[in-house]
Amino acid sequence: MRAARAGPALVVAASLFGCGIAPIQAGRTGPGPPRTHVFVGAHGRPRAWSGGVCPLTRRHEHLYPPVPPAAFVDDDGAWRDTRALQDFDGPHPWKGQRCSQPGWHQHV
Ligand SMILES: [Zn+2]
Repeated sequence: MRAARAGPALVVAASLFGCGIAPIQAGRTGPGPPRTHVFVGAHGRPRAWSGGVCPLTRRHEHLYPPVPPAAFVDDDGAWRDTRALQDFDGPHPWKGQRCSQPGWHQHV
């Protein structure tokens, strides 16, 4: 039995409808495990990684670097976001647009 294969039409369709967001690959220069970045405290996520706020307060790691770099300080070997977090409950106006996220959430 032969396995099903994606033909050229699927590849073309995927490239036509791609979102155009390039993955962040800072520090990735060759083979091997991906580089991780240590964070501490809640912090903003890069838009390429869904944006929003990572709510974890303990030390933890991500594959993305601190973005924008100027908003972060080195806190004993971990990146800490210095921006103020704002709490919201449900949809609300945000930066000239409308955030439709239900429930409690944060923005930087
Ligand atoms: Zn995080």
